Amino acid sequence: MDLRNKHILVVGLGRSGISVAKFLVSRGCTVTAADNRSKDALGNSLSEITGLRISIELGPHNSDTFENCDLIVLSPGVPHTIAPVNRARKKNIPVIGEIELAYHFINIPIIAVTGTNGKSTTTLLIGEMLHQSGFKALTGGNLGTPLIELVDQQETADFIVAEISSFQLDTIDKFSPLVSILLNITDDHLERYPDFDAYARSKARIFENQAATDICVLNEADATILSVLENLTAQRFAFNCLKFNENRSWISDQTIWFHTPDAGDQHVDCTDIPLSGRHNLENAAASGLAVLSVGGTIAGIKGALQHFKGLPHRVEFVDTVNTVQFYDDSKATNVDAVARALESFSSPIVLIMGGRDKGGGYESLIPRFAQCVKQLIVMGEAAEKIKTVFEDMVPTVMAVDMVQAVRMAASFAVPGDSVLLSPACSSFDMYDSYAQRGRDFAQSVDLLKGGD
Ligand code: ADP
Repeated sequence: MDLRNKHILVVGLGRSGISVAKFLVSRGCTVTAADNRSKDALGNSLSEITGLRISIELGPHNSDTFENCDLIVLSPGVPHTIAPVNRARKKNIPVIGEIELAYHFINIPIIAVTGTNGKSTTTLLIGEMLHQSGFKALTGGNLGTPLIELVDQQETADFIVAEISSFQLDTIDKFSPLVSILLNITDDHLERYPDFDAYARSKARIFENQAATDICVLNEADATILSVLENLTAQRFAFNCLKFNENRSWISDQTIWFHTPDAGDQHVDCTDIPLSGRHNLENAAASGLAVLSVGGTIAGIKGALQHFKGLPHRVEFVDTVNTVQFYDDSKATNVDAVARALESFSSPIVLIMGGRDKGGGYESLIPRFAQCVKQLIVMGEAAEKIKTVFEDMVPTVMAVDMVQAVRMAASFAVPGDSVLLSPACSSFDMYDSYAQRGRDFAQSVDLLKGGD
């Protein structure tokens, strides 16, 4: 991609937009950076680019700027269908995202991970499995370091493992990883896509440019994934695979099995690994298949699984208070993540849900609730909507904030129960991020021990 003497508009000044603007300036481009938020709303992030040769436009978008540049690079937080972008497209101005831009400057193989849930866990697990197999891998993308920042680090590595969201896939063009991984597709982000089908098709773009020599690792038990495979040309590696496939993985109790034509059947016993829950065995199976496909070893897979403790705010144990265990699953921002969290407990659960609704329903959780939820506490913007769905089957109360929710939870729980924060909603009604919400939960649990 020749960027010389190009005037490029970067839209959205979150973490990746800032990195893109800096990257483009360092490549000698004329850069305009636009964000419809105010200086105050953007906070400190602007200071990273204020001294550079970048013209910054804040507040309502200026159509002239969008229609008088050579290329637009959109941030994932900006819907790719907003009016000024559509008008620029009509004038044949190319519109891409950060992932596409970075792809043109990356020369080492990319392993790209997408899916509704499990992306971050899988991305880091693959990085660790590659490391334990003797490779050097950089991890980033939608998690941690933006892909564009990895461009200048790639000489030191054998692979880049990138978490890719559906919003990032909406603005690819030629992006084509050596290995793509599609973990699962369930209801999410219906506030941004016209319908579930559009969201599912966006996920399937991860393999749209792959060649027949590339590899796609996919969840063979996910009916939605199976329904969007018509453009798949890459070799199919299947996990959760019950039927014959040359390269496959399946889970039997706590054991993950792998079959490859060269090595035949190999297995990893996961009885004592730190990760818990069937969903994490699926993440591990997908990761292992991907790693084997690029020359990693079964010993490397085992080594990583023995040490990998998972990420904070994903069914993370917080503390035990009065023999009740408290778990933070603040990253569960959709119903399937909550369902999988509930599935991994054997104790009765006092569940805290709520936050900003994402446009889907909560009804699919009803069968799981019947099995294990003894008390529901709802909070945030979606509280009323969630309450309406469950109050006839489970005692449900509303809390005004996290401190109250945790206090109520502690009062309902008896020894041996677990209290789980698993919101099924985004955090943006009350917090800056899911991590801040999770920290508030942990602090509220801590307050219980203070005796007040
Ligand atoms: P993502 O990056 O896709 O958001 P994470 O690994 O951060 O995925 O996990 C997000 C949430 O999804 C957590 O609540 C976690 O427990 C849950 N989760 C992780 N893996 C899976 C999976 N394979 N299926 C369903 N839920 C999962």
